[in-house]
Amino acid sequence: MPAPVQYDVCVVGAGPVGGTLACRLAEAGLRVAVVDRAALPPMEHPDFDGRAYAIATGSLPFLEASGVWDALPAPSGPIAHIRVTDGRLGRPASRLFLDFQAAALGPDAGPFGWMVEARALRVALNARLHALPAIAVFAPAEAAIARESGGVSIAIAGGPSLTARLVVAAEGRNSPLRAAAGIPVTRLPYGQTGIVCAVAHERPHEQTALEHFLPAGPFAQLPMAPSAEAGPDLSAIVWTERTADAARILALDPARFAAELTRRLGDHLGAIRPVGRRWSYPLSAMFAHRLVATRLALVGDAAHGIHPIAGQGLNLGFRDAIALADLLIRAHAAGEDLGAPGLLARYQRARRADNLLMLLVTDGLDRLFSTNNPVLRLGRDLGLAAVDRIPPLKAAFMRQAMGLATSR
Ligand SMILES: Cc1cc2nc3c(=O)[nH]c(=O)nc-3n(C[C@H](O)[C@H](O)[C@H](O)COP(=O)(O)OP(=O)(O)OC[C@H]3O[C@@H](n4cnc5c(N)ncnc54)[C@H](O)[C@@H]3O)c2cc1C
Repeated sequence: MPAPVQYDVCVVGAGPVGGTLACRLAEAGLRVAVVDRAALPPMEHPDFDGRAYAIATGSLPFLEASGVWDALPAPSGPIAHIRVTDGRLGRPASRLFLDFQAAALGPDAGPFGWMVEARALRVALNARLHALPAIAVFAPAEAAIARESGGVSIAIAGGPSLTARLVVAAEGRNSPLRAAAGIPVTRLPYGQTGIVCAVAHERPHEQTALEHFLPAGPFAQLPMAPSAEAGPDLSAIVWTERTADAARILALDPARFAAELTRRLGDHLGAIRPVGRRWSYPLSAMFAHRLVATRLALVGDAAHGIHPIAGQGLNLGFRDAIALADLLIRAHAAGEDLGAPGLLARYQRARRADNLLMLLVTDGLDRLFSTNNPVLRLGRDLGLAAVDRIPPLKAAFMRQAMGLATSR
């Protein structure tokens, strides 16, 4: 029997968080095994995932350091301006709203973030995972993983045996590694579905994102870069509805679907035309009670899932990966054990507060805004107006949206 192949870290899940973390570690000289149960090339196909991510400015240096940003197949659309409005279906937005301009933070502030299609991110990730000599990719593959205080053994079904000092669970919300470690999870169902699609429009979006709070849930229009197929003026839509209503809306014929969309979006972009297929994602929140166990660290959606109300789920996962990569790269340079209990405890300490805060903020926002209660509506409208008029408070909100105000 051949001797097991030795790696420093084994990352299970080659999604945006696990894949980027693996590239960052390999760029810093660590040997990394990446295991995904699915084949990677089909994830680049337009029919695999309809989401477009709002990637916050604070996540950018990590994507650049991993080489993923430069491997994106198309330019990303910047978000320079965010409007937050409140209203009722079919009526104009409330007079009280928030208006954020990234330029207000100073000439060097850059945009709030960038819109990147999920499939474009997969193209870049898959290219980097296969280009970096320090990474071995096993996909599609099933792995039997045994974690012990002395190290981790990984048996790839029908393939080689590996060892690593640490295994990283990045398999998304239903993480088998998290379950096998007995880490408890709190789940919050929302009874809401996210309808996702793209729309071409008559007028330019001026790099402006709109978050329109409606009683059924938030409706977001996010500015995309021009597309050769869909045209120069394009936006991504993330539209939250109660699940029963979402099923009805998703089944509408194209003209009625476009009419329902226009009722929520308003007419500021002129005539709209939905392009491509409609997607739907059931929405829930989830929080793992611990981020670590013996030679195991959880990152990304394996550790927490949040409401997409503020487009922060992936950015939160990137912040896990940044914190873990910093600790691992330093420990590797110092010749220390990459799965030592002290290192894992430091990782958990670094990430708990930010993860919990973001869960509470997104959950609170959804509950506060997805309501018809007139008292709550008045209170929050006055709150929005107050934030808009208090410059330091407004600047703090903007830095949070950029991912620059974390407790890291
Ligand atoms: C409608 C919607 C819109 C969103 N918009 C935004 C946004 O604008 N900005 C933002 O920051 N976030 C957004 N999010 C959140 C974002 O999609 C997630 O936070 C992100 O996908 C998490 O990435 P991940 O790599 O942790 O997990 P995933 O994307 O779930 O990737 C998991 C990977 O692990 C693999 N895997 C699964 N099981 C196994 C297994 N047993 N063994 C091995 N591999 C396995 C999968 O094949 C996959 O490759 C949105 C979410 C929704 C639902």
